[in-house]
Amino acid sequence: MPQALLLTGPTGTGKQRLALWLAQTVLCADAAAEPCGHCGECRFVGELAHPDLHWLVPIPRLKAGETAKQIDEAKTVLAEALAERRDSGRWEPSDGTAGHWLASVRLLQRIVAVTPFRSRRKVIILGDAERLVVQEANLEAANSLLKVLEEPPADTLLILTAAEPQGLLATIRSRVVPVRLGRIPDEVIRQFLVREVDSTLRGAALERRVVDADGRPGRALQSAADSAAGDRARALLDAAAVGAQEWASLALRQAPWGARGAFADTLDSLAVELRERLARAALADDRRGLDRALTALARVDAVHETLGTNVNPQLALAELARDLERVA
Ligand SMILES: [Zn+2]
Repeated sequence: MPQALLLTGPTGTGKQRLALWLAQTVLCADAAAEPCGHCGECRFVGELAHPDLHWLVPIPRLKAGETAKQIDEAKTVLAEALAERRDSGRWEPSDGTAGHWLASVRLLQRIVAVTPFRSRRKVIILGDAERLVVQEANLEAANSLLKVLEEPPADTLLILTAAEPQGLLATIRSRVVPVRLGRIPDEVIRQFLVREVDSTLRGAALERRVVDADGRPGRALQSAADSAAGDRARALLDAAAVGAQEWASLALRQAPWGARGAFADTLDSLAVELRERLARAALADDRRGLDRALTALARVDAVHETLGTNVNPQLALAELARDLERVA
């Protein structure tokens, strides 16, 4: 295996998933052509908890300050981002303003310099590598990464992923072995949907999902999560309209989906549903409907803002439902 790989391909084709699989292959105790999938190493990688697996994803711009402090901040933010990924089981593209800042590259340099904790090797994944922010005019971040790519230690496998590799500096591209992931045939996506997403899918509904997925398993998972969140949002609004008892029992029934990712998805779907109601009310010149939908939207937005804090999803949902009862 080359020491520095660049996985490219459209969003949702499974670049990061493949990178994790390669990490498993390298770290697996039962080393063979494929990871065994059940040894401690394989399981730790699967849970994103292996001390010799380092996954750097783009993060929001860091506060200005000394580099040392910024590196610590980057470390904390990255740990939170990974915890989120672990909880939701999905790795969505980072938002548009997130990047790999100089502090992230410095952190990467530090990781490269230490010996592996548990295994004989370590794996570093730099997701969405084209988000490497070449800061100001000094190219410092890029140069630091270049240094690592030029002479990676023998115990290190570096995997870059990029949907838009042309966004990477040519000097970086020239030091990595490119592997292109293409779209996956519909037949394989069809089997994937039935096996991994919903075993009851068939006929026209299944074909619609296949078309939506566009050869990309990541999109197939995303659209499944969207429609599940949409169902939850509509159920919540219906329950709120019926009354306190109804939504309380719904909130209790839905208790296990306490994961932050699922909660955020439900809030997004609620907002979509409410905007549709808003549009319908506007078309019908229904002032009362407009007021209600607007108030409800404001409530959803307010809860959305608490997402970054340590809010309990069940409690937030219960309060939101009580608010919606008055306006939905
Ligand atoms: Zn294994």
